[in-house]
Amino acid sequence: MKSGSFKIAGQSWKLKVLKKHAKLGDDSFGYCDSDNNIIYLHAETTNDQQKSTLLHEAIHALEYIYDIDLTEHQVKCLESGLFSIFNFRLRT
Ligand SMILES: [Zn+2]
Repeated sequence: MKSGSFKIAGQSWKLKVLKKHAKLGDDSFGYCDSDNNIIYLHAETTNDQQKSTLLHEAIHALEYIYDIDLTEHQVKCLESGLFSIFNFRLRT
């Protein structure tokens, strides 16, 4: 996955793919910086792991955008469920 820009719910966000774990927070494969609209991903994982982590961090971004409060467990469940839907769709 490459660094770049994209939109989440109409807001401009940046995706930064890092080669080392530096700057990543509690989520081991990624981090959502809601103050600066940046999602960081760890590059040294599989493509599927990167896509799943991007989905996870984008869900965190939606928490901030829509001012909703999800637990980490809820975010992980949504990540897993949505990833299975979209990954299946992409492979059929
Ligand atoms: Zn998380």
